[in-house]
Amino acid sequence: MIQILLTVSGLHRKLVHVRMKFQATQSEQCIQLASWRPGRYEIGNFAKNVSHIRCSNAQGDPLRWNKIAKDQWQIHNNKAEELIFEFNYNAAELNAGSTYVNSQMLYVNPVNCIPFIPGQANEAYEIHIEEPYTFLSSGLPVENGIMHAQSFDELADSPFVASYKREILKEKFLGCTFEAHIFGNAALDRERFWNDVKKYTELQVAIFGDFPELIFPNANQDNRTYLYLLHFTPYFMHHGVEHTTSTVIVMGPGDSFDKEEKYNELLAICSHELFHTWNVKTLRPADMMPYDFTRENYSQLGYVAEGVTTYYGDLCLVRSGVWNLELWKTSLEQWLNNHHKNFGRFSYSVADSSVDTWLDGYTPGTPWRKVSIYNEGALLSVYLDIQLIIQSEGKHSLDDVMHHLYETKGKTKVGYTADDYWNTLSSFGLANANYIRATMAESPFDFSEVLRESFEKIGVELTWEESPISTERLFGFGVEPGGVKTKVNLVAPESAADKAGLWYGDEIIEIDGIGVEKNAPFLLEDRTEAHVRFIRNSVPFETTLYFQPEYTTIKRSKIEFKTTSHPLFKLWLGKRK
Ligand SMILES: [Zn+2]
Repeated sequence: MIQILLTVSGLHRKLVHVRMKFQATQSEQCIQLASWRPGRYEIGNFAKNVSHIRCSNAQGDPLRWNKIAKDQWQIHNNKAEELIFEFNYNAAELNAGSTYVNSQMLYVNPVNCIPFIPGQANEAYEIHIEEPYTFLSSGLPVENGIMHAQSFDELADSPFVASYKREILKEKFLGCTFEAHIFGNAALDRERFWNDVKKYTELQVAIFGDFPELIFPNANQDNRTYLYLLHFTPYFMHHGVEHTTSTVIVMGPGDSFDKEEKYNELLAICSHELFHTWNVKTLRPADMMPYDFTRENYSQLGYVAEGVTTYYGDLCLVRSGVWNLELWKTSLEQWLNNHHKNFGRFSYSVADSSVDTWLDGYTPGTPWRKVSIYNEGALLSVYLDIQLIIQSEGKHSLDDVMHHLYETKGKTKVGYTADDYWNTLSSFGLANANYIRATMAESPFDFSEVLRESFEKIGVELTWEESPISTERLFGFGVEPGGVKTKVNLVAPESAADKAGLWYGDEIIEIDGIGVEKNAPFLLEDRTEAHVRFIRNSVPFETTLYFQPEYTTIKRSKIEFKTTSHPLFKLWLGKRK
């Protein structure tokens, strides 16, 4: 048993004191902090938040320690039976995967601030918070204010919030109690939100057949709970992280949720995270079974873990009737536009981009280098789902594939391989599954044409139009929206901008002698030639943009639902069962 005591040791310093008490098992006792957190497939370097380390025996006598790796410590235990390892954790960052403290709450994601003992990940934990907070929102069982986790895996997957104030939405349906614990202020229509949550939840459970049983090892039918921990911030935020029995979502500004766009953003993230309960928390790539918290867990299957989830997160909102076709069209067009603007699609596969989340998956990175497991993964899923529906004449879809994998590779805790995924697609009627895998998933691929052809067969039209923005339409480059400076954030290969020598990060300061202040698209409207001055690395440069019809430009996708009465279209966006 490992006992953890958490104390807020300096509110304005954003410090949480972590005290870990445990039985020594080695003379040179090793202690480790996780190198990464599930949901974000990159090295987290959480140990950079650790300071003021102290080791002692049960009597309080100090023990020597030293660092042996970036997130590992070694205690020279001097024959002590019981050891205490304590430190301050800098809890200054609020996002859906972090640990954060302010005057209202202590929000803990245990995977980044509570250590484990290598080789003893099955040791049980007790967690106690010293401050007299009024409420504790936790997916872990709580007895007399103490949380219990059976293993580090369970603890790492169970974020909690201790607070003085919270609001709860709660309802039992489908044999499970769903709760939303709300922190911060939001202009959110609670009743509408909760009704919509219920609708997409019912559909997701129908797709998979049940709510994962194995994720509630201690629960009986009566006390299953799924928890939404919703932090609303006064500033812009958009972040969610999935857990097995909960999700943490941080969004803002809170006063914007009475706007339809922001409200739908919240629903999309909630639906996405719930879908992860099956896809990734229960049904996971075999490469990640179990999670290894000490190093990178490489997998080529991010296009299933995140791609299928991105697709279904939004799709379930349409299929359950929460979203109308206009909103669905917006999602499709956005994925297509992101794909069109990402020239990495000509040089890198979505499978290799999945491995590379560990390298540069969460930054824009080198231009034209890679694609996104979310965006290109979603487009691959759109294609596979529609192809299955067409080829099986409506008998099967990606629903059946995910349900089958959940039953055979998820509930059994074995995990799935790329062969399992593609063989299952094939078994439900996808012709040429291996060819599709090799060309679309494991090679660079442009989805525009195969999607256009697939859409056509179910009454959907995909066309590409000129961009309304002059920089994109005439010269093939984009600039950052908003901001004080006009910075280039997109250059199409073989575009007028590329040929003129403009590049990502260049700051445009003058067009034909006129100073630029966010008005570059206006100044370039209807031009065929323009003299541009720009700054790169503090050095001024100048060049001339020439419009030529044969140069690459940036286009916009346009989706039209031509025949919504098409039986396969109705199946695609209907409940299917
Ligand atoms: Zn996700």
